[in-house]
Amino acid sequence: MYFYMPRSTCGTSVATENASACHASATVAGRVASGEQLCICYSDAALFQPREVRRALLHERWGFWCRCSRCEGTLPTREKQRWALLEEAAAAADGAKPRPSVVDPSIVTLQLQAAKALDSWLPWLAEGARFKEDAAYFRGSQDMSQE
Ligand SMILES: [Zn+2]
Repeated sequence: MYFYMPRSTCGTSVATENASACHASATVAGRVASGEQLCICYSDAALFQPREVRRALLHERWGFWCRCSRCEGTLPTREKQRWALLEEAAAAADGAKPRPSVVDPSIVTLQLQAAKALDSWLPWLAEGARFKEDAAYFRGSQDMSQE
């Protein structure tokens, strides 16, 4: 298998570990068809941001305009809907911090939906933990055993 700098995408088919300037190990996450390009996400901070913010962050940090299928809007409808849910949940949580004295329960529901979607769809994404953590944060509890 030949492996060189994977293509950027605002999603990911490869989970990188122990990356440094000259060495990285990676695990292919999920099914990859023969000949399919392997992709990594270049910016965890950008992953759940809306398209324009994501592309601006990538351009600022890496000097390119991302042309992945998510940025180009060519994802299958189901995947578009999933990313829309994740972007909505991230924006709702970010917009409600610090936690108000009265929390809109829909924020917690949205975080739990996002966490569930990621668990079934992209379970290797460590960034997915943010939705569980935010659900607990807005519930005012770190106890996730009540699910
Ligand atoms: Zn992209």
